[in-house]
Amino acid sequence: MKTLRVENRQQQQRARHVPERTCIACRRKAGKRELIRLVRSGEAVETDLRGKKPGRGVYLCLSSECWEKGLKDNHIERGLRIKLSADNRLLLLEYGRGLTKKESTK
Ligand SMILES: [Zn+2]
Repeated sequence: MKTLRVENRQQQQRARHVPERTCIACRRKAGKRELIRLVRSGEAVETDLRGKKPGRGVYLCLSSECWEKGLKDNHIERGLRIKLSADNRLLLLEYGRGLTKKESTK
């Protein structure tokens, strides 16, 4: 005999409202799918492409400009209350650059 369990815990929050997030660099509001979430993981910041990682998160557009701005003006550090290491900063910058430069044929 099978037992079906329906977990319905988080169903109630803001049922009609499409969740909007704000890009920390340009302050544009957009749906989750148009933005990339960044989360703090220990002493580092990493991308959270599925939006499932726990913890404090900030959002950035799918645009290299916003990533550069977010890093340069320390929006990410402020938003996540973290001090980015040089390596971590570079990694995120590289990631941002990859977003709008898909044509690079190396
Ligand atoms: Zn933006």
